[in-house]
Amino acid sequence: MAAEANNVTKPTTTFTSHVLKIGIVGFGKFGQFLAKTMNKQGHSLIATSRSDYSDVCQALGVTFFRDPREFCKERPDVILVCTTILAMESTLRSFPLEELNIINTLFVDVLSVKEFPRNLFLEVLPEECEILCTHPMFGPESGKTSWAGLPLVYDKVRISEVGSRAQKCNDFLSIFESEGCKMVEMTCAEHDLYAAETQFLTHTVGRILSHMNLKSTPIDTKSYETLRHLTETISGDSMDLYNGLFLCNANTMEQLEKLERAFDTVKNDLFGRLHSMIGKQLVHRVPDPSASSTMDDANPLKKA
Ligand code: NAP
Repeated sequence: MAAEANNVTKPTTTFTSHVLKIGIVGFGKFGQFLAKTMNKQGHSLIATSRSDYSDVCQALGVTFFRDPREFCKERPDVILVCTTILAMESTLRSFPLEELNIINTLFVDVLSVKEFPRNLFLEVLPEECEILCTHPMFGPESGKTSWAGLPLVYDKVRISEVGSRAQKCNDFLSIFESEGCKMVEMTCAEHDLYAAETQFLTHTVGRILSHMNLKSTPIDTKSYETLRHLTETISGDSMDLYNGLFLCNANTMEQLEKLERAFDTVKNDLFGRLHSMIGKQLVHRVPDPSASSTMDDANPLKKA
């Protein structure tokens, strides 16, 4: 680990809030989930997505644009990228940035990996663009009733120190702060290091267990129920997300190898001990007479 958790969790800053025009790009499960709270807080919301979400948007009080160009012409304060990890690059590269008031637009992402969107934003966006990378460490299930106490990881990748552009970033962060989120500022690289050990490992173990079709029994223990619960939680997440977590975090291959080595160690401990126990019981059940007689024969004192 590059840093201890208590070194990276900085004291909470208080962000004041103004109404923002937020443009959501990718209106899937998570985009819709965030839109509900942002709408409740009084922000003005527009959305665009590959598929048609007109009806969903209408029900949520969000204005939907099929055409990203028309969406950009609305000049949102914030572009909030909520696409899958793997779709972000093609979406951003084909986005009609020229239609935005680019200098006054804050770009934010919510992807579950952080170095990848950070570097992509830095590569694709003009230098004058402000960039905030975030990862709400919760979703439609865990944040269904409240966001209180749930962590929001963020990295102000390229944000002005003062002025209206700095304020815009604070306004955006205050959406989460005012819901009671635990505000955790850390670099994208630190996030990915932690996330490989926590999120990716959890997903991987959940996926492995889901191949075992764990059933409930009349004697389930609490720990077994936890394992079953993990497989149920993971089964709701797409393979697309899992692929993105793996491919777009530089630390996950090492975690996968560690997991494999740990499994081998456990198996070897188990089988090694079992083999010597069974050897004693089945093969060496009586003292080896030939071994003792040979020794006796060879001992001149015994013969005498
Ligand atoms: P999702 O329901 O699968 O939605 C993904 C969005 O990406 C959809 O709007 C989809 O477009 C778009 N998309 C997928 N493939 C595309 C492609 N080839 N070209 C253009 N657009 C494409 O996933 P989600 O659960 O909302 O997650 C969205 C993001 O939030 C992910 O990056 C994830 O890591 C992050 N996140 C999710 C959670 C969570 O609990 N769900 C929590 C924290 C962070 P259409 O639907 O329009 O076709």
